[in-house]
Amino acid sequence: MFPKSLRPLLPYLKRYRWGYFAGTLCVFLTNGILVLMPLVIGRAFNDLSHRDSSHMLLYAGLLLAIAVGKGIFQFLTRWIVIGISRDIEFDLRNDLFEHLESLSYSYYQRHRTGDIMARATNDLSAVRNLLGPAIMYTANTIVLMAGALAFMISISPKLTFYTFLPLPVASIVIQYWGRQIHDRFERIQAMFSDISARAQENFSGARLVRAYVQEEAEIRAFEAENKEYIRRSLKLVRLMGMLWPTLELTLGMAMVLVLWFGGREVLLGRIDVGHFTSFLLYMMQLLWPVIALGYVINLFQRGTASLGRLNEIMQEQPEIKDEPGAQEREIEGEIEFRGLNFSYNGARVLHDVNLRVPAGSSLAIVGPTGSGKTTLVNLVPRIYDAEPGMVLIDGRPIREYSVASLRRSIGFVPQETFLFSDRIRENIALGVSSATDAEIYDAAEAASIAADIESFPEGYDALVGERGITLSGGQKQRTAIARALIRNPRILILDDALSSVDTQTEDKILNHLRDVMQGRTTIFISHRVSTVRNADRIAVLHGGRVVELGTHDELLALNSYYSDLYNKQLLEEELAEV
Ligand code: ADP
Repeated sequence: MFPKSLRPLLPYLKRYRWGYFAGTLCVFLTNGILVLMPLVIGRAFNDLSHRDSSHMLLYAGLLLAIAVGKGIFQFLTRWIVIGISRDIEFDLRNDLFEHLESLSYSYYQRHRTGDIMARATNDLSAVRNLLGPAIMYTANTIVLMAGALAFMISISPKLTFYTFLPLPVASIVIQYWGRQIHDRFERIQAMFSDISARAQENFSGARLVRAYVQEEAEIRAFEAENKEYIRRSLKLVRLMGMLWPTLELTLGMAMVLVLWFGGREVLLGRIDVGHFTSFLLYMMQLLWPVIALGYVINLFQRGTASLGRLNEIMQEQPEIKDEPGAQEREIEGEIEFRGLNFSYNGARVLHDVNLRVPAGSSLAIVGPTGSGKTTLVNLVPRIYDAEPGMVLIDGRPIREYSVASLRRSIGFVPQETFLFSDRIRENIALGVSSATDAEIYDAAEAASIAADIESFPEGYDALVGERGITLSGGQKQRTAIARALIRNPRILILDDALSSVDTQTEDKILNHLRDVMQGRTTIFISHRVSTVRNADRIAVLHGGRVVELGTHDELLALNSYYSDLYNKQLLEEELAEV
């Protein structure tokens, strides 16, 4: 019996059932008091038509009491019901964020940030309006209608029949319009997502847009999308603009019928002036709720359209999660790729990779861009998932480890560093809430960023990003390395994490790292032979296959890709010295 489109809200509605119950009670009281008004006025009219003014003061007092009583309960209704809608919005927003956090990285590669933001803001408000005003006005309309109807029938069943004669027309209008509003609003929200995504990409890519002098072009493109958004919004406005008058017209038609037939009844003496007045007043009272119905349909349709959009996110399953039987396990650090094949959407990127990195050793990976290096290392902390049994840690398939324990044991420094708009201290201690100052300094020292940080006026308390200092690419990378080291990981993975620092700094960091990573496993990707030459073993990846594997000297002896790379870089260095 519960509308299917609203089903996702059921748990939330249940949570606040007592609040809604209190709200409903207030709705009954508000309208229960309100329906007395036409009765009092009707009485007064009857008295007046008999030239009796003795009770006028009493009627005035009653009307005042009705106004005050109704006002109080109306206030309470709003307070309770609108309050609940804010509470549910709060819960929904938390749940949405929690769910978004649980989704895998690949989700964010498939969806635009602006679109997600639009849903989390605009659509959430539309759902709130559904839970607050829409429910409140609907309850009001139903209760008032029922109350007024009872009195109207008791006054004259015949006139009541005329009142509701145009009702089928209204219901057809409502049905048709409702669907239209739903569809149009969905189209509006989709456009709003596009606009948000474009704006967000322009802010994130501010540097690029300026470097390529794309401001004008972007402004024009934005304007075009904005225009489309307005065009779609105006279509809805036009529809709404017609809905209200249509509803009013149907009520107006009813009023004409009642005046016509009711007037005759009065003249024939079958109904007295007071009762007829009361009847008309009930009709007037229904005017606003019926108009509100138009507004409610709008809110309801917007709300369900938006709920559908939010639900799309909520139904997204995290692709990477704990398998049944996965456990928290200690990790020693041996990594093995066993007959590993990997594809992105059917496009094979890695072919039959067989590699074993003994615990405590280091492996360097070199190879041309696009050869699959990043993909390979991403499979270890399960940023993407390889097929079961193809990636093993300590001889055990990685899916047997809980995702959290696996990732806790790995210090991962991706190619693109991301720092939060927070203090450097927090950026380094990310995810290690127990980190002491000394541990933060040590990690910074090991990543050769300590001296830089101490040169900032606020040192470790310096804010990074929008409201603080701007770090250079190399500083960011070293901060990211410190972040990986502070977790004291059994496995350290550096994906070209030193590309923005000069060779000397790189040597310094690597020397430090060798000490820090004693007895731990390190995998690092680099383009510089000087970086990789000291690794225990070096793998050359080409077209998704391991084509060379061995120590620096062994690979040089092969006289192939690695030795070419070595000779080329040696030549570059010599030329640089000239
Ligand atoms: P490398 O790190 O050696 O430059 P990558 O592992 O980044 O190589 O990429 C290997 C191949 O996989 C490339 O052809 C790239 O286009 C493709 N690729 C990388 N990431 C994705 C992804 N998320 N979706 C689809 N294809 C991808």
